[in-house]
Amino acid sequence: MEPKTNSSVIKPYKESQNNFVSLIVSKDVKDGKFNGRVQTRFPPEPNGHLHIGHAKSICLNFGIAADYEGVCSLRLDDTNPAKEGSEFAQAIIEDVNWLGFDWGNNFHCASDYFSELYQFAIQLIHSGKAYVDSLSAEDIRAYRGTLKEPGRDSPYRDRSIEENIDLFERMRNKEFKEGSHVLRAKIDMSSSNMNLRDPVMYRILHVSHHRTGNEWCIYPMYDFAHGQCDSIEGVTHSICTLEFENNRPLYDWFLDALGVDHPRQIEFARLNLNYTVLSKRRLAALIDCGHVSGWDDPRMPTISGMRRRGYTPEALREFCDRIGVAKRNTTVDLALLEHILRQHLNRTVQRAMGVLRPIRVVIVNYPEDQVEQINAINNPEDAAMGTRKVPFSRVLYIERDDFLENPPKKFYRLAPGQEVRLRYAYFIRYESVIRNPETGEVEELRCTYDPDTRGGFASDGRKVKATLHWVSAAHSVDAEVRLYDRLFAINDPASVPVEDLDSILNPASIEIIHGCKLEPSLADVTSGSRLQLERQGYFCVDSVDSSVEHLVFNRTVTLRDTWARIQKANNNKS
Ligand code: ATP
Ligand code: MG
Repeated sequence: MEPKTNSSVIKPYKESQNNFVSLIVSKDVKDGKFNGRVQTRFPPEPNGHLHIGHAKSICLNFGIAADYEGVCSLRLDDTNPAKEGSEFAQAIIEDVNWLGFDWGNNFHCASDYFSELYQFAIQLIHSGKAYVDSLSAEDIRAYRGTLKEPGRDSPYRDRSIEENIDLFERMRNKEFKEGSHVLRAKIDMSSSNMNLRDPVMYRILHVSHHRTGNEWCIYPMYDFAHGQCDSIEGVTHSICTLEFENNRPLYDWFLDALGVDHPRQIEFARLNLNYTVLSKRRLAALIDCGHVSGWDDPRMPTISGMRRRGYTPEALREFCDRIGVAKRNTTVDLALLEHILRQHLNRTVQRAMGVLRPIRVVIVNYPEDQVEQINAINNPEDAAMGTRKVPFSRVLYIERDDFLENPPKKFYRLAPGQEVRLRYAYFIRYESVIRNPETGEVEELRCTYDPDTRGGFASDGRKVKATLHWVSAAHSVDAEVRLYDRLFAINDPASVPVEDLDSILNPASIEIIHGCKLEPSLADVTSGSRLQLERQGYFCVDSVDSSVEHLVFNRTVTLRDTWARIQKANNNKS
């Protein structure tokens, strides 16, 4: 098949890939291999949502194709209808798009090639390289041997070509029950590579497929479909993760036996992140056990979860670029991902004020019915983002923990005898508290302001040590805010068996706060918009639960940057 050209591949965040895969491809191009053509693909199985590990593979495949003016296709490896579905296929398309990559016309599915794959199977039977086996699944496993012991030939291994063709056609014609027969490659039951011990090529599944319906009741195994799909599409560089290194001899065997073109397979190390699991099976288990609300729960490392949480595609692409591509498995620190995200959000999103746990403050010397519009800067990192007006009045909210009646040393926020700045507004000084007569809890603070500190600076030059965020009570907007922490309490949750995941969950991974008070400019934020709430972190309007009547914000990430601190400490040491 003639490869199509993809004119609209978006360049990745960094101008070009610089890694060992790129070196191999560049040499192939120089040597005129594949006529100098470069074609890659990202081949997910639509059995779950993509996660940040997939993002690494997406950036690599699309990035290489873009660097060499080649093609990168999106191919769904939809060979197991029992576990796959169109809602996953849709989610994959949306996620790759959102990450910023465009496959043009090059969208394919393994199911597009079911007829070709069937013909390939017939070809292998005719050349005596495949046979129908009628052992049970259990026996096939037992006959396979172990890493230490060779396998044994199936008693059905020497069926005649005619009998094999007949049985395989009848398998296809829905004559047999699931599990009664499989088609196997006739390779070597004593091979030291287990993948070569007569692997199964086709099995019977009486399951309807989300694209081909009931047309087929036999489905190719991933290992039989994968290399042939690459070959049909004209893929030149089949980039995959290290665990496929041992499958390469099998892929080569099939392609040689069929006499078709080979792509060059290049394996790289998959992404592992601490405090995170990156396996669809484990992510699905978290959903099935009700530990998270779904694939797009903002605590999930899925692209849909991270999008809902407020991550930007730019930050994910930059992260994939920074971690690089290597041959050896390593674990990346989640703090690096969050650091890159903060850097991007810091430059690009608007700031606002919002009080998560409010306490009322009455400025007793401020006129009852006066409202001032205070000038506030939208992003100190970018003057072009301009300013906005924030109303100031006699009754305000500040953060409950910005006040202490009996403060320890070095508590510079509001306390008896202390003066603080209200951001962009005035200096205020504490005068007294009003308590709930029954509980004794502090319900309201009484303060005075200094009219000579408008804008937050004193005309006599005196200084204060703390600046607090605030909102005007009468103008404030109510919201629900969801704070997140790591989903797992341990550094390496992938080391724990999937049945035990609940024992290592972080019980504080979500905290929901109702009755937060936000400045009025946030009344009409739209779903998915991002902002910084001063001193509280970066937030994103929840795309599922937020509405005009009931605003819901997810905290994307705090302002605390542990990665930057680690880097600084390291620099000071050296
Ligand atoms: P999982 O183990 O999460 O189920 P998978 O490898 O089974 O992942 P596929 O849908 O088959 O999922 O993956 C599509 C592509 O993404 C493959 O080429 C695979 O190598 C790559 N990939 C999957 N996980 C990672 C990861 N953590 N880092 C880099 N690439 C990955
Ligand atoms: Mg897989």
